Amino acid sequence: MVIERLIAGFKSFRETYYEEQPNFYQSLVEKGQRPDVMVIACSDSRVNPSIIAKAEPGELFIVRNVANLVPPYEPDNRRHGTSAAIEFAVRDLKVEHIIVLGHSHCGGIQFLCEGHKDGEDREFIDGWMSIAEQPHDNNLQGEALHRHVEREAVKISLNNLMSFPWVKKQVGDRRLKLHGWLFDLEAGELLAHEVGKGWNTLTGYSAKT
Ligand SMILES: [Zn+2]
Repeated sequence: MVIERLIAGFKSFRETYYEEQPNFYQSLVEKGQRPDVMVIACSDSRVNPSIIAKAEPGELFIVRNVANLVPPYEPDNRRHGTSAAIEFAVRDLKVEHIIVLGHSHCGGIQFLCEGHKDGEDREFIDGWMSIAEQPHDNNLQGEALHRHVEREAVKISLNNLMSFPWVKKQVGDRRLKLHGWLFDLEAGELLAHEVGKGWNTLTGYSAKT
């Protein structure tokens, strides 16, 4: 049933972007994509950047991974999917903004804080999540700790972005701006982090912080 629903969804998408606007994709094909914004988001099914920002096709260049993490700059010929996407966005597409979009109730962050429920290590998740490992205030536990680590992980990713020399250069030249955002699933709120000001709402709705 779910597959049929997706195919029906594509038909509706086709009506909007091909039948009602016949030039829409034609132009995107002829001129190529020119997104101004890259989003680094979690693979979590509830946190689709295009849906939550109501973006149009062609607007957002997106990489999604477990816990929306950016690894440090490690040009070692290994298979760095996220770093490759960042490189393409910055050096080829020349995006003007990179948004690291964290979210509350992140499964990856929960793994990092609590380990795996079945007690077994994971072959890929554990190494990947180690990007967000750092010492935390021992007073925090459970959900409060998760909410804290979710926010800290966004800041780690922003710092790691600056370890890529061409990101650092573009930021220094003011041709690229980095943003740390967080989608609070429960409150339906979008927060942004600013150095010195902490996390604040972008929309005016109140959020549990
Ligand atoms: Zn997540």
